[in-house]
Amino acid sequence: MTATVIDGKAFAGTVREKVAAHVARLKEENGITPGLAVVLVGEDPASQVYVRSKGKQTVEVGMNSFEHKLDADTSEEDLLALLDKLNADETVHGILVQLPLPKHLNEDLVINRIDPAKDVDGFHISNVGLLGTGQKSMVPCTPLGCLMMLRDHHGSLSGLNAVVVGRSNIVGKPMANLLLKDSCTVTIAHSRTKNIEEVCKQADIVVAAVGRPEMVTGDWIKPGATVIDVGINRIPHPTEEGKTKLVGDCDYASCAEVAGAITPVPGGVGPMTIACLLANTLTACCRANGLAEPEGLTA
Ligand code: NDP
Repeated sequence: MTATVIDGKAFAGTVREKVAAHVARLKEENGITPGLAVVLVGEDPASQVYVRSKGKQTVEVGMNSFEHKLDADTSEEDLLALLDKLNADETVHGILVQLPLPKHLNEDLVINRIDPAKDVDGFHISNVGLLGTGQKSMVPCTPLGCLMMLRDHHGSLSGLNAVVVGRSNIVGKPMANLLLKDSCTVTIAHSRTKNIEEVCKQADIVVAAVGRPEMVTGDWIKPGATVIDVGINRIPHPTEEGKTKLVGDCDYASCAEVAGAITPVPGGVGPMTIACLLANTLTACCRANGLAEPEGLTA
């Protein structure tokens, strides 16, 4: 079998188009422009790239982008004061604090200072609790992107066996909760799971969020299953000396021989993450204004 490739890059383009169309309607019919504020503390090069990309895509879909770049030695007090200001600002519908933060700042304290209704990353403890109890919440962007691709591919996910490999707060756990909400039978595997290959082999859906290059191989996959590879790992290029290559947590070649469908790396889950950030900002804006939420862009 050769798996169908789930093209996350193209899918993300469709999500952005839907967001842009909805934003245009909001402006025309309600005179509202959704706004996303991104806060970056310090000069971590990878974070700077992400923040630039988020700002660019926010503007491209017609939203307002507010970037707040703070020095690496910014005090907790100053950062919290900025968040309070953004929480109170009616032109800001989504707030994202780029992680990781410098070591002297308490990440939990900072994230939990964001108004949960503006928490477009879905990391605030209230949103975690709401999602965990199956209620309406802001949903973390990466798992939301995976869910959208799975719904698009399968239609209904009800009754399917899903194995999520990884139990982090930003990917594994929210992913498992979303799949449960869509009535999958969910197993969460992690570094202590026994017979992990056999566990994965029972799954109709495998979501790999491990951070270990090409760990999941074709012999872990049930023939015809869907494989969502969240991993982003940079490894030395196998043939070109001095160069690197991006790979996922799944061994693409062997998994694609067995799976029914698979997301590639790059071009799978990655592009969906920022698209879902835009979708979440739009959702937050609609909720804040008592308007109907965008269809197909929420959990
Ligand atoms: P974390 O390091 O926070 O969590 C990794 C999880 O994998 C842990 O629960 C860990 O288990 C588990 N794990 C580690 N080793 C093994 C193993 N040998 N067998 C089984 N489970 C194992 O990572 P994240 O969740 O933040 O990220 C996971 C991957 O997804 C990374 O490659 C990251 O770069 C990528 N990512 C991609 C995004 C995107 O936009 N595409 C966004 C976010 C992340 P335990 O808890 O027992 O230690």
